Amino acid sequence: MPQGLIVKALSGYYYVLPEGTVLHEGNTVTCRGRGVFKNKKITPLVGDRVMFEATENGEGTVTEILPRSSELIRPPIANVDVVVLVFSVTEPVLNTQLLDKFLVHIENTGIDVLLCFTKSDLLTDAAEAAHVKEMTAAEFDRITTLYQGIGYPFVTTSSRLEEGVEAILAHLEGKVSVFAGQSGVGKSSLLNKMISGIDLETNAISQRLGRGKHTTRHVELLPLAGSGLVADTPGFSQLDFMEVEAEGLSSCFREFAAVAEGCRFRGCLHLHEPDCKVRDGVASGTIAASRYDHYLLFLAEIKDRKRRY
Ligand code: GDP
Ligand code: ZN
Repeated sequence: MPQGLIVKALSGYYYVLPEGTVLHEGNTVTCRGRGVFKNKKITPLVGDRVMFEATENGEGTVTEILPRSSELIRPPIANVDVVVLVFSVTEPVLNTQLLDKFLVHIENTGIDVLLCFTKSDLLTDAAEAAHVKEMTAAEFDRITTLYQGIGYPFVTTSSRLEEGVEAILAHLEGKVSVFAGQSGVGKSSLLNKMISGIDLETNAISQRLGRGKHTTRHVELLPLAGSGLVADTPGFSQLDFMEVEAEGLSSCFREFAAVAEGCRFRGCLHLHEPDCKVRDGVASGTIAASRYDHYLLFLAEIKDRKRRY
């Protein structure tokens, strides 16, 4: 029985890419799901590796869903290898609080993350910067050094100058990825340069990426130039901490998790407890004050949510 990958799910049909083939227009097998999934309360998802059997009419039936390594809810997709977290260096302003919030959500899923900083053509040098909204090369360097130090790989891109596209493709070679980030940061522009064989205008793919309320929502994996696949719908549209508990928050801050075992109390929230290695790290400068401040803010948000629901 052949194995394959669901690249699209629509109106009860699953479009399965047979294993060992490269996705291009029209080389998927259109499959129905076997009724047994309904009884088991498991629905095949885009990204699922499945077993399927061909039927006479060139279509097929999905017979088995192989174990998932991860499962995202928004967009609904299984086995994502990398979330590409996109922030523009400016326009909109690079907000590290929002960046940390996205990172918490991604860490909570256990999926790898690649930071992507777009619109590098808008970086200015210190002498030119006249405006608070401008990002100087030095300030940008400070931010990338911070996140790289924590262990997050990053790429810098400019769709306008066609820079960084090869670098990001190299990171996503052979992987299934989802892009995430605020609207306006340049996700569609960048994806447009990365998707092979489909020459879409930015606004055409924007429509695919940010669908209106009236169209049917579905996720689809598109082929990257190279051998990766990317979801056409951005991830993490709502960041409300519904899935993160206060006790689990510090494990979503990698550099906290690395030292928290040394805290005197198990379950230390790194607030006012004595002998706290996280606060020691902030005091000595090995943990960035901005990260700790954001941690405190998010912790307050989680506690506030608990009170309200
Ligand atoms: P999305 O909402 O994240 O998909 O962002 P878009 O790709 O639609 O881009 C939002 C705006 O940023 C558009 O006006 C683009 O022309 C602009 N933009 C995208 N990439 C770049 C870039 O590399 N440099 C500059 N200067 N502008 C860009
Ligand atoms: Zn602590």
